[in-house]
Formats: sequence, structure tokens, C-alpha cells
Amino acid sequence: MSVFDRRYELMPRAELEQLQIERLQALLVRLKRNVRRYRELIADARVESLGDIEKLPMTTPEDVACSFPYGMFALPLREVIRLHSTMGPDGCPLVIGHTQNDLAQWGRLVARQLVASGVTSNDVVMITLGGGLYRGALGYALGAETVEASVIAEEPYHIDAQLAMLQSYRPTTLITSPSNADELIRVMDARRIDPQSLHLRTLLLSRPVDGETRERLKAGMLVGVQCNFGVDTVLDPGLCVECEAGRFHVNEDQFLVEVHDGELLLTTLGREAMPLLRYRTRMACEIVRDKCSCGRTSAMLQPGERLDGRLRVNEIPLYEKQIAEVLGQTPTAGHRFTLRVEERKVVIEIEMTNELFSDMIWPIVHLQRKIESEFLARLGIEAEVIFVAPSPGG
Ligand SMILES: [Zn+2]
Repeated sequence: MSVFDRRYELMPRAELEQLQIERLQALLVRLKRNVRRYRELIADARVESLGDIEKLPMTTPEDVACSFPYGMFALPLREVIRLHSTMGPDGCPLVIGHTQNDLAQWGRLVARQLVASGVTSNDVVMITLGGGLYRGALGYALGAETVEASVIAEEPYHIDAQLAMLQSYRPTTLITSPSNADELIRVMDARRIDPQSLHLRTLLLSRPVDGETRERLKAGMLVGVQCNFGVDTVLDPGLCVECEAGRFHVNEDQFLVEVHDGELLLTTLGREAMPLLRYRTRMACEIVRDKCSCGRTSAMLQPGERLDGRLRVNEIPLYEKQIAEVLGQTPTAGHRFTLRVEERKVVIEIEMTNELFSDMIWPIVHLQRKIESEFLARLGIEAEVIFVAPSPGG
């Protein structure tokens, strides 16, 4: 068993819970003092035990969106050295700030995952994450540098360049998205490149996959496969460590987890720039607290579905409202549409009406192409637009 941070990852439960209470108390003091939103909400709040957290107010993604850009920061902007944009409710922007200490801590948290995946200072770690996962790539790079592995981080768009790098740089660990891993395997198959000719030992995926996908990628690349589970509006990667038993241990010295009505709530215990109290992640989750064979003592998460209808197209997060907004600026504004997410694109079926085309100068194909290029330009996703007859009663 490889453990990066034995003190915290193997900490006896009683000691870990005591640490959480102390950090939660300190968090409340900082929030009261430094974040206007919390000042009155928690003015009289006191926590003596972890159970007392249920008396504290929750924070919704909408609360964070209302404070955009810097209203949730607990420190002046001059102490915040890194800003990351992320996607809030219905696609509105949120910003996460990090201090120097936050970034160092982020590196240590991701290092826990890398070490659990077998990465050492002798390894070459190749990171190919693009699209909506750019921020994750920076987190993995911090983690790999913390472990003192050699890091090469590239955009994943050119599969040829990726293959050339896998062959010439001889990385032992590849961090990428499940869809990019599938694409690599497809191209390697087509070109008869034997995965054994590469030096890869481990594939670390940017998000959880089902058992079937895991087995397919394992067999296609002849590697061990591990997954990350994070929450991009809080921390991703760095929230959990997937151990060799395939379970997601929460980094509980830094995050307090609860499940409320099936939804995962996260409280950041150590973060300086942007602490969050009982943040509603809009993700379904279960918390498991039994003993794991790996020896880690922290609670384990079983992630479920998203609760806010967020879709994912080619690894880019997307809300239906964003699609309606793009369509709203075309001649199809107000028309009913349905969505279907395919491997790398979204298929949008728009109900056609006579009015739409009675005085249309453009041919229909022109309009389809125009709308499709709008999606690419504004949301960075590939869309296929199909016009269909109106549904009955429509
Ligand atoms: Zn474990």
C-alpha cells in the first residue's frame, strides 16, 4: 500500500473527528470575520460536536453566483494568487480563488491520489486534459510536482501528437478523460500499435466510470485504471483518493462531508481564499463509513447522478438553459426542442413551424450550419441540429 500523507490518511477516527471540529470552529471564526454573506447568518453559531453542523446554514451555488466574482472571498484579492473560472447554475460563471497556501495544499491532496496510483519521483506523468478540464490539469500538475515526478501536460486535441508523446517520452502514468482514453485506444487499434510497446502502467481518469468502461480501458491499454471523483465548483481533483480497493476516500482533514436529502454537502476545512460552509454540490451521493482494506480511515463516497440536469458533452459541462440561450438568438427562438447527448456532440431536434420557413430566404441547411457554428463558438461544443415536425399539441 502506498500512502503519501500517512499522518492524515491513516489518522485514527477519533483524532480525525477532533481535528475536524477544531478546524470547523476556526472556519466559523474566519467566515464571521471576513465574509459578509456569513456574518449575520452565523453570528451566534456554536459548534461543540460534528453533529452541530446541522444547525448551520447551507450555501447554494446560487449564493456563490450572486457574490460573483469575489464576494465569497475571505481574504483581500492581493493575497489571492490564482483565479479559476468554473460553471455555476445554468452555466453562469463562478470563480474560485487560491492563496499560495491553498495551491500548496491542493498539490498535496492530489499527490495523495497519485501516490495511491503508484506514482513516484521516478515516473513520467503525462496529462492530457482539455475542454472543460483545463483547471483539473493544473491540479494534477501541482500534484505530480509535489511527488517530484516528471510532468508533461498537453492539450488532447491532436491524437497523433499524443501517440507520438506516449512513444517518445515514455510516460508511465497517463491522466486523461475517459473519452480521450477511448479515442487513443481506437487509433492505436487502427494503426496496429501494440500497447505493450508503450511504457504506461497507470491510467488515471478525470471522472468515475462504470465497471464495463474500466475493464475496456484496462484491456485496451494494458494498464491499471484509477478514477478521480471531484466537485468542480469546490475542488477537482483533490477531494477524494481512489484507493486500490476502488473506493473514493474523502480527504476528511480538509473536507467535511454530509448528505442531506440525497445531496452531497461539502464544507472546506482548510481553504484560505474561498472557504465554503455546507455547500450544496447538486450531486447525489452516499457516504459509507466502514473499514477499508487499504487502511485509510476516512469516509468513502459513492457518487450518484447530478441533481441539476447538468449534461456533459465531450467532457464539457452544459445546461439546457445555455442551449435555449444560444437558440434564442437565432430564427428558431422560442421553438420547442429536445436534446440527446451522443459520444462527442449534442443532437438538438428543433420543432419546425410553417412561419419559420414561409419567408425564410436561407435554405434550411444554411440555417442548420449557422446554428451549429454558434454552439461551437459560444459553448465550445459540437452540435447537430435537426428540424422535425411539431409534436401533437405543440
Ligand atoms: Zn480504501
